[in-house]
Amino acid sequence: MAVSSRRAAVSGAAGFIGSHLCDRLLDSGYEVVALDNLLTGSRANLEHLAGRPGFVLLEQDVCAPVTVEGPVDCVLHFASPASPVDFPAIPIEIVKVGTLGTHNMLGLALAKGARFLLASTSEVYGDPLVHPQPESYHGNVNPIGPRSCYDEAKRCAEAFTMAYHRAHGLETRILRIFNTYGPRMRLDDGRVIPNYFSQALRGEPLTVYGEGTQTRSLCYVDDLVAGALAVLDGPDPLPFNIGSQDEVTMLELARIVKRVVGSASEIQFRPLPEDDPKQRRPDTSRAREVLGWSPRTSLEDGLRRTLEYFRSAL
Ligand code: UDP
Repeated sequence: MAVSSRRAAVSGAAGFIGSHLCDRLLDSGYEVVALDNLLTGSRANLEHLAGRPGFVLLEQDVCAPVTVEGPVDCVLHFASPASPVDFPAIPIEIVKVGTLGTHNMLGLALAKGARFLLASTSEVYGDPLVHPQPESYHGNVNPIGPRSCYDEAKRCAEAFTMAYHRAHGLETRILRIFNTYGPRMRLDDGRVIPNYFSQALRGEPLTVYGEGTQTRSLCYVDDLVAGALAVLDGPDPLPFNIGSQDEVTMLELARIVKRVVGSASEIQFRPLPEDDPKQRRPDTSRAREVLGWSPRTSLEDGLRRTLEYFRSAL
């Protein structure tokens, strides 16, 4: 099939990662049918694509059966609120999009004979007891905790995906996304990068939760999207971790953001949210060995690029 005739349906296309994914797909010759109900996604993230040949946005909730006219070669299911501030606010919507939404997008892929890519998450590992986390680790998730709407829905989404692969022979791929940052993150997202940047730029105190000893490994969005497309083109249905190896404590990160912004803000300690994972870093050997993927952007460079966005967005 000619490259120019490939057509992708992307759910969550107006989200932070979804919108960057649409950019990359269009740049590599795909036509893109973007699906989003704009619950946490934003039309502004796709404004620059309006009128671009081969791009269409359908305002649609994928928790209801999904109809897309014409051929579809791949279905990329990226719809889901994913910020800890969304968990208490819209937990039912989160469970639904991970379960019913995944079922509907799998149904679309099956009907079209398309390859299916699930955006899963490092949250399937919960508060991990194994470090760093390889794909073979089954996780340590609290099924009834405040994060369970997201964690368990994504675990169910993976189970649904494997069930479709096993029962129908559907070509499926699973991407486990670790912490990702970059332009187009929601300012009110509540996650660490938008919080620290907006606080540092406004001269307000940076809010470090707990003692700030918990770690995350932050991947720049361009690297993540390259990894997602490598997983889509990858050879097998088993999950791939995609994320950065640059593990930092949240206190170190506050100091780095202050330096990058050139801010004199003080650091303030706040209570640690319940079930907040203590450490997180992916083992990405499988992505490196099987897909030849590894991130290219240093934390410092990625943060500088992200700063430009937050400066203009605030
Ligand atoms: N965090 C913080 N201050 C903030 C926001 C978050 O110290 O203003 C911490 C949070 O407790 C967690 C880490 O930063 O340990 C990453 O949080 P985020 O919400 O970005 O993503 P998570 O990895 O928890 O889903």
